[in-house]
Amino acid sequence: MRNSFNIQSVVRENVKSLSPYSSARDEYVSDGSKMIFLDANENPYENGVNRYPDPHQRSLKSVLAKQRGVGVETILLGNGSDEVLDLIFRAFCEPKEDNIITLPPTYGMYKVLSNINVIENREVLLTNDFEPNVDEILKAIDENSKIIFLCSPNNPTGNSFSNQLIETLLEKFNGVVVIDEAYIDFSSEESWIGRLINYPNLIITQTLSKAYGMAGIRLGLCFASEDIISILNKIKPPYNVNELTQRKAMERVLDTESVQIEISEILKNRDELVATLEGIQFVEKVYKTDANFVLIKVDDANRRYNQLLENGIVSRNRTTQPLCENTLRLTVGTEKENEKLIKVLKEIGNG
Ligand SMILES: *Cc1c(COP(=O)(O)O)cnc(C)c1O
Repeated sequence: MRNSFNIQSVVRENVKSLSPYSSARDEYVSDGSKMIFLDANENPYENGVNRYPDPHQRSLKSVLAKQRGVGVETILLGNGSDEVLDLIFRAFCEPKEDNIITLPPTYGMYKVLSNINVIENREVLLTNDFEPNVDEILKAIDENSKIIFLCSPNNPTGNSFSNQLIETLLEKFNGVVVIDEAYIDFSSEESWIGRLINYPNLIITQTLSKAYGMAGIRLGLCFASEDIISILNKIKPPYNVNELTQRKAMERVLDTESVQIEISEILKNRDELVATLEGIQFVEKVYKTDANFVLIKVDDANRRYNQLLENGIVSRNRTTQPLCENTLRLTVGTEKENEKLIKVLKEIGNG
């Protein structure tokens, strides 16, 4: 619990004074009565998508709010979590002046976004057991450090970070802590959403791209204090989540049973895969995973990666990442795909 943090102290000056674009759909909000819409220069002939989408995605947010037990005003939706992450950079980091802290090996987009936005990226390696190195992080922070990115469960290592270490960072850092929970639906740990009210500097991102099986529609979720969400709302493109995405997402989030069944199936396949991987001759280590993928250390990652390719299996070679020498990251597929993977691993192990 912290009370000492004031979000306005880390918002960029231009964002504070910005007046956002006011769209036709902002100025007149339909109350359901039959109106003739001549305000947005749309084509009037109905085809299902001739009208602009709801810029605030009210229906979708109200379902999500109910499911997560939060208020709609604490949710922002984006064109994938990548857009949400970019908005966070643009709200809090002054180009060529501010810096962010990232903890490699981790998700590559934080670094890419820091380059796009001309923000210094201060990298503090995870410890050997892939936990945040809190002492080193605190040393790396200065008055221009605006954001720490924590990915938990972490991509590509698969583990969830210690809650106590995350809490220490939330308490001690006078900037924004982003917890990227892209894999939270697979995790045995609880989401930090329940603790948002305790931490005015906490932002949580999630996505429909992984457990929800909707990478193609691009829908990212962001949860934070009402103050933070209204700052992000000021700078988001007005119609950032298109009509087709809003509809598809709505169908899927209402179908919680199907989502849960698939998650259970993936977790079952994952645990079987992990058990088998431990018996493969050239696999030196199978890292503990809390996600829908598993990182393995092999004898020669480049060689094994190519052998898998020759057998029709695409894995992710992470050997160039810090602390990840000779590692491959394998996503958990269907039961059939799993069987094929295991068969191929055994064959190339014997060859
Ligand atoms: C896959 C992934 C995402 C998803 O990004 P989207 O833009 O929502 O598809 C976000 N963060 C991490 C760590 C990921 O691995």
